[in-house]
Amino acid sequence: MTEVQRKEFQAEVQELLGIVIHSLYSNRDVFLRELISNASDALDKRRFLALTDPALQEPNLAIRLIPDAKARTLTVSDNGIGMSEEEVVENIGTIAKSGTRAFLDNLKKAGKEGGLDLIGQFGVGFYASFMVAGEVELVTRKAGSDKAVRWTSNGTGGYTLQAAQRKEPGSDVILHLKPKEEGDESSKDYADPWELRQLVKRYSDFITHPVMLVTEEAGKGKEDTVNSMKALWTRPKSEVKPEEYAEFYKQIAHDSTAPLETIAFSAEGTLEYHALLFIPTRAPFDLMFREGRRGLQLYVKRVFIMGDCDRLLPDWMRFVKGLVDSADLSLNLSREMLQHDRQIDAIRKRLTRKVLDTLKDMKKNEGEKYLRFWHEFGTVLKEGFAQDPAHHEDLRELVLFPTSRSTEPSGLADYVARMKDDQKEIYYILGESLETLKGSPLLEVFRERDLEVLFLADRVDEFAAPALHEYQGRKFRSVSQGEVELPGGAPAKEAKAKEEELQKRHSGLLEALHKALEEDIKEARFSKRLTRSAACLVGAEGDLSPQMEQFMRQLGQAVPKGKRILEINPTHPILGVLEKLHGAGPESPQFQDSARLLYDQALLAEGLPLKDPVEFARKVADLMVAAQR
Ligand code: ADP
Repeated sequence: MTEVQRKEFQAEVQELLGIVIHSLYSNRDVFLRELISNASDALDKRRFLALTDPALQEPNLAIRLIPDAKARTLTVSDNGIGMSEEEVVENIGTIAKSGTRAFLDNLKKAGKEGGLDLIGQFGVGFYASFMVAGEVELVTRKAGSDKAVRWTSNGTGGYTLQAAQRKEPGSDVILHLKPKEEGDESSKDYADPWELRQLVKRYSDFITHPVMLVTEEAGKGKEDTVNSMKALWTRPKSEVKPEEYAEFYKQIAHDSTAPLETIAFSAEGTLEYHALLFIPTRAPFDLMFREGRRGLQLYVKRVFIMGDCDRLLPDWMRFVKGLVDSADLSLNLSREMLQHDRQIDAIRKRLTRKVLDTLKDMKKNEGEKYLRFWHEFGTVLKEGFAQDPAHHEDLRELVLFPTSRSTEPSGLADYVARMKDDQKEIYYILGESLETLKGSPLLEVFRERDLEVLFLADRVDEFAAPALHEYQGRKFRSVSQGEVELPGGAPAKEAKAKEEELQKRHSGLLEALHKALEEDIKEARFSKRLTRSAACLVGAEGDLSPQMEQFMRQLGQAVPKGKRILEINPTHPILGVLEKLHGAGPESPQFQDSARLLYDQALLAEGLPLKDPVEFARKVADLMVAAQR
């Protein structure tokens, strides 16, 4: 007898298993897809290593499904790479991937219904076994070693490990099936060969290794291959059914929703390859994580080379899933070599173009669909403005922004078409959120004159804004920076003179305001953009926006605090009040307090934090009291 070790699952795994076991899934079938996919990966790994280590060669790589109706078990067996004891503990006892915490949180938020989808996306693969099995055994032997190990668990708390025997390298996952649930019509008998055949056809037909069903017939063992193994991507698009593409996508993307768009094409000539790309319908939970899964699968002549090849598309297209199968690349390609491979560069260029063109077509011909795409992935696409100057022009054709007229996002061409005849520039405003932008005092004069302003409220927009630059010969103009010049040209002589006169008459007051707020502002002046609010803050041309400053500080960069310009509304009664207080003495606490209040409420209107909120509240209360005296 060999010694049996007992171990605990990592807390996260326990939590996950609790959810897998206790939730009522609408679709338990996916467990088989997950196990076959793991087995197929193990076969790929062995075949890949055998290229350089002939001792690992195995001419008959295969996955076997062995149902046993009497014992009520189903065994999924492969002769792939296998696992050592340490690897079993590492791979099956813990969840190594970062982002697990966030995943679990999402799972709880999504509730039981949405949970399954998340499990699909996250690929809890192996653990899905516990959806159908009360007890799971794994017997595995690593290729190149003669030791095997047996792992068992009922999914609650812990698992056991024990030395074992296995003739060949590879893994057997033995599922002790749960009894068919009473009254549950949807629950299937996974020891039934007919049922298994259906499931393989449905979910795993294109697996590039044979999936064999091993049955007892008249006391004799019988094996037959169930899947067609036809590499979907080598077949002409016209011969593949949309459902086939959808199933394939679900398999490789660990998603349970069909893709929004499928892009299949083959390149011929000097560089030959097949590409099959998908734009998902929904963003995976790890899209914005730095460690999130990204990249395409790379095959060379039907042989799987690597899973997350992130060289094949730019990072800002990381939402695209799929694969490339090349006839020309070397089978011994390593990740390092990919970095400098000219063929890979050429493929990347072509794929990027294909995705861009597909999106442009979608935007033009299928507006609703494009909106859905934008809602899920627009933020990622906009990262291209920061990363990829070569594609700014394409991105300008693709971006959508909400505007001061409508929260339904709008493309730039549509915005330009709606511009006033004498409007020369494209107006935009940057801000923390749509909510604060909607109420921004900076928009008052624009609203009054019915000039539409683009709302840039995403964090990436800070980077997108400078790159937007120009569209159809119209420059982009931030309404919160510099002097606003509204359509109608420069102000008439008369108005200009009036302005100068105003500025001159109040120069003492403006200077006193500047002095009172010297730490925070670089100038106080009269505003041309305010109609209702008393004051606002604007940047000088070329200044960093306060949001950008904040963001750079979060990244740990030392950014000096930029001072902005305080603009006072000359038509607001506040001017009279300020004049009076100033007259009574610019050093008086009343004047100083009013200056500070004016500044603070301008910050608030932008959704920015106050330096001293308690002090602000106290001053407002004092004012209320004073007003009643
Ligand atoms: P995922 O497949 O998403 O990585 P799983 O929980 O399904 O997650 O599997 C965890 C790991 O266990 C795999 O990444 C792989 O390293 C290993 N593994 C699972 N099944 C097998 C198998 N049949 N043969 C070899 N290794 C396996």
